[in-house]
Amino acid sequence: MMRALILGGTADASLLAAEIARAGLDAVYSYGGRTRAPADQPLPARIGGFGGVSGLADYIRREAITRVIDATHPFAAEMSRNAIEACTQTGTPLLALERAPWTAISGDSWIEVADVSAAVAALPEAPANVFLAIGRQHIAPFASKPQHVYTLRFVDPPEAPLPFAADVIVSRGPFTFDGELEMMRAREISWIVARNSGGDGARAKIDAARMLGLPVVMISRPELPERRRVESVTEVMQWLGHSTRLGA
Ligand code: NAP
Repeated sequence: MMRALILGGTADASLLAAEIARAGLDAVYSYGGRTRAPADQPLPARIGGFGGVSGLADYIRREAITRVIDATHPFAAEMSRNAIEACTQTGTPLLALERAPWTAISGDSWIEVADVSAAVAALPEAPANVFLAIGRQHIAPFASKPQHVYTLRFVDPPEAPLPFAADVIVSRGPFTFDGELEMMRAREISWIVARNSGGDGARAKIDAARMLGLPVVMISRPELPERRRVESVTEVMQWLGHSTRLGA
């Protein structure tokens, strides 16, 4: 019997969960538990870490999981590495659902960097209004450039004090081109720091930056070991042995 585990936390994972539920397949949706009120799923769900590679391998055995789909965010590298290792250990087929990264097009002004500390270094010395479009667990290093006025955007209001003074927008999105343009104009944003998430959902800020001629410090995705990867829900459903009505 097929029983799938979806490692979720993304819009694509939600689309996949809907399609799997519609197809009547047996599956569990796993949340990392970072967001206080995660989006509801039409599948049985579990929340929180498994306890590293061995915890995930135990879970796979205990729950008789036969397939794992890693639909986590491209920057959720620890979870993805653990999935590769636990699936190897348990002999469970693994498929990653991951959008292709964005590539710069004409009019984009990107400075591509490998990680957050390189992003801090890439910001100018002269004071600027910086939109820091990265997760809250990665913002601390920007405290070393306190001359900038930072705008942050989070899904939940911050629980703990931030490592530096910043303007915080609390919103889950979705974010539109017009909305991003308006936000950047209103705050006179002059630099943007973003991660190369790929997909349409987070793209609006990059398109707005191009329109406004603003530089974007673009953090590349972490490197992962080789794994089988597809970009659409349709391909995941085919891998599970089901066709789909979605054109995604
Ligand atoms: P991460 O650094 O790769 O993961 C850290 C630990 O969190 C993992 O080792 C695992 O703990 C646990 N974990 C992560 N995702 C999990 C999942 N789907 N189910 C169960 N445990 C999970 O991940 P992250 O960057 O903190 O992201 C956490 C979650 O938020 C993911 O589900 C991801 O898809 C979602 N998300 C992340 C981003 C982002 O920017 N990183 C953006 C949107 C959504 P154990 O080792 O104990 O198993």
